[in-house]
Amino acid sequence: MMGLEDCSPSLRAKKLRWRAMAERYQASLAAKRRGSFSRADWLEILEVHDHRCAWCLRKAERLEADHVIALGRGGEHEPSNIVPACVRCNRSKKDRVVFYMLEVA
Ligand SMILES: [Zn+2]
Repeated sequence: MMGLEDCSPSLRAKKLRWRAMAERYQASLAAKRRGSFSRADWLEILEVHDHRCAWCLRKAERLEADHVIALGRGGEHEPSNIVPACVRCNRSKKDRVVFYMLEVA
């Protein structure tokens, strides 16, 4: 494989542009995988749900961020896919997704 040093200046410039583009693309993919979910988003989600568990609707001291559609099933780590869940519900979650979605819709 030819190194950048062996290229003509114009080809080198093109390669550098391509590399920068590829790096931006990789970075955007990584950001997508991580999703965009900030602490402020979480506080807003808690507010919307009145600091209650989205599944059993009980007020819980400790609420965890729960993915409505599991990441493994293609859900995203972003506010529209996150609800507060009490520890018990989060641990025992099965197929409550459907019911929850119906309630909200
Ligand atoms: Zn619960």
